[in-house]
Amino acid sequence: MPHLHTPFDFLDTLVHELVHAVDNCKSGHGEGFKRIALDIGLKGPMRSAGAGEWLKKDLLAIAERLGEFPHGRLSLPVRTGQKAAKRPGAKCTKCGYEVVMLRKHLLLGPPICPKDMEGMEETGGWIGFDC
Ligand SMILES: [Zn+2]
Ligand SMILES: [Zn+2]
Repeated sequence: MPHLHTPFDFLDTLVHELVHAVDNCKSGHGEGFKRIALDIGLKGPMRSAGAGEWLKKDLLAIAERLGEFPHGRLSLPVRTGQKAAKRPGAKCTKCGYEVVMLRKHLLLGPPICPKDMEGMEETGGWIGFDC
């Protein structure tokens, strides 16, 4: 869906999408869609069918009655705030040797540093890590 600027654009698009809904998305922009679309006052190439003259008037009247239309661009939900858990890993506090842990090995605990032969420290999200 392109981004919509005015209440009229929004209603215009809404009507188009509602035709798909009424049609149960069965006929794409084919005959079934066209029949309904023309019936309720859409016109133009069906793929981008928008309000014809009288429907436009109606929609503008509705838009006017709705008044100020607070809206933003539609966007996919973006995870904010909480940082996504970093991949679990382990790091040697002595020499800094670092590895990434496989999820299935988390139960065994952090590995031993091959250089210092000491237990390494857990890094990243060991708890609640979810891939
Ligand atoms: Zn469509
Ligand atoms: Zn080390």
